[in-house]
Amino acid sequence: MTKPRSGEGFAPVLLKSFVTLATCCALLIPAAAQVTAIHAGKLIDPDSGTVLTAQTILIRDGKVEAVGNNVTIPSNAKIIDLTKLTVLPGLIDCHTHLADGAHDSEPMGVFRKTAAELALESVPNARVTLESGFTTVRDVGTYRALGDIALRDAINRGDIIGPRMYVAGAYVTITGGAGADTGLAPDITLPWDMHYGEANSPWEVRQVVRKLAHDGVDHIKVLSSGAVLTHGSNPHSQEFTLEELQAAVDEASHFGLRVESHAHSPEGIKNAIRAGVASVEHASLIDDEGIALAKQHGTYLDMDIYDEECIQEQGKLGKMPKDFLEHDAQLGQIQRDNFRKAVAAGAKMSFGTDAGVCPYGVSAKQFAFMVKYGMTPMQAIQAATSNAADLLGHSNEFGSIKPGKYADIIAVTGDPLTDIHALETVQFVMKEGKIYKQ
Ligand SMILES: [Zn+2]
Repeated sequence: MTKPRSGEGFAPVLLKSFVTLATCCALLIPAAAQVTAIHAGKLIDPDSGTVLTAQTILIRDGKVEAVGNNVTIPSNAKIIDLTKLTVLPGLIDCHTHLADGAHDSEPMGVFRKTAAELALESVPNARVTLESGFTTVRDVGTYRALGDIALRDAINRGDIIGPRMYVAGAYVTITGGAGADTGLAPDITLPWDMHYGEANSPWEVRQVVRKLAHDGVDHIKVLSSGAVLTHGSNPHSQEFTLEELQAAVDEASHFGLRVESHAHSPEGIKNAIRAGVASVEHASLIDDEGIALAKQHGTYLDMDIYDEECIQEQGKLGKMPKDFLEHDAQLGQIQRDNFRKAVAAGAKMSFGTDAGVCPYGVSAKQFAFMVKYGMTPMQAIQAATSNAADLLGHSNEFGSIKPGKYADIIAVTGDPLTDIHALETVQFVMKEGKIYKQ
């Protein structure tokens, strides 16, 4: 995402062309860098877990240049007054599915759409996610492989508006597993992009990881237990062997990629942790041994404890498939109780919502549930900022408002440390120094 500075590359050509000195130099002087100064009433620093007051944030070329109460502001700086608001680093959702098209509780819907329809329907998902305060997402799989890469790249080119995306490309799953497009008769042949990540041995897992790395993914998503929202799946089951999961983590490491694993069942969770994944997604039925293992290995638990609300709500409206509701029975409450246990035990926690299960743009509603189930408001904010950046391996680029990091900045009315619901209505959104909501 490093853009060449204007002027670079042109200079030698211009000098060789014997234009007049005046013309030459006028062309060579780059446009003045955009400088912005934000005055923040309160500034939350998740790195130290503190709140600073009367801070000025100086932003140049999309990055934070300085933060403090005695920052010299250049005369050409654009001033933004957020003194009446609480300013925070841009939020990070570590578990989204932005490339799955319009929100739909029935995955069979994917068979009624072309890949192009899904891609175009995903454009507003990206926009509402950014406008709700999430400047970065880790997107963890899509029904049609590589659609997430296209979405990420369109955002990076500036063609469409959305958060910075880190994408998985496809689900690495066993045949008929939690990440498979299931529900059709066995004699129907799926297009290549609906079974791209299927693998059934350590070597097949390695082959899939190699393909995805070549395709340009940012991380690898494996599924080590059955799922709630997949036809013919059982969330209490175990998928992949320890050996297959170790193959995924090892092969991914050859490309500098981290692995996250979807897992509900205790054995699926523990296999993934033992294999060395960076995070366990859902972790619904994690037991005491699993929590201890997560702590020992430094594995993040990325528990989506809000979306139970949407699953039940859709169920009441008759919009959620019956088998999904059966899979989900009691799982939601057990997951929330286990979230409380994991927080109390001091396991590393990140913020992930499974956006796409709930409609896009409402992910911040999970914060209140994280506080209800044992986190302090600061811990919940850290899960979605400094912890999330650490999980993604990009703490030096985002996750807090510090010199050298991207100017990913949001602001809310009120104080989220006393009323966490404040994060549900974001007033100001800046990504890489550009304002998307004010
Ligand atoms: Zn998911």
